[in-house]
Amino acid sequence: RLLAAVDDLLAQRRRRMATPLIVALDGPAGAGKSTVAKLVAERAGLALVDTGAIYRSVGLVALRRGVSLDDGAALGTIAGELAGTLRFSWQAGQNRVFLGDEDVSHAIRTPEASAASSAVSRHPPVRAALLGLQRELGRRASGAVLEGRDIGTVVFPDAKVKAFVTASPEERARRRMKELADKGH
Ligand code: C5P
Repeated sequence: RLLAAVDDLLAQRRRRMATPLIVALDGPAGAGKSTVAKLVAERAGLALVDTGAIYRSVGLVALRRGVSLDDGAALGTIAGELAGTLRFSWQAGQNRVFLGDEDVSHAIRTPEASAASSAVSRHPPVRAALLGLQRELGRRASGAVLEGRDIGTVVFPDAKVKAFVTASPEERARRRMKELADKGH
């Protein structure tokens, strides 16, 4: 009986260690989610998944291919293809976004790509396709910090750590304005 109890505890411990640690950060645009996520990922040595960058990538590909931002089915197909091409890579303290061999970190943040990402994110086929991708990215490493809308509620409702990051509307507007100005827009 003692041996069975020890085996049981060991099995529990193995399960716990095999379960990736998910840190989910939710909150509105411009609240500082990315800043907090980056800090936590760096300090804790966890992967960082910027889910907004994933929606932005769908928007960028749609613009490049001339796919209508109203065509939910076609946009859903683009979102499904990302599983094979999208990856994040830490470079010089920055979380870069790649589609295949192309670094799209800047291209996904133009005002056009931002507007496109917002439009594509409204389509259920896109959200459904990206749900699986976000879960896969989160579970791939030993753990990950994920930030973005729906993360703690829909994508990883069982995340070990959840936080809601927010700020005043004035502060959020100021941050978004600075972000654009820094890029010369
Ligand atoms: O956070 P960020 O501005 O990069 O997000 C880009 C777009 O993707 C926004 O329009 C946002 O609503 C959408 N998005 C989403 N769900 C997420 C992350 C972002 O719908 N988890």
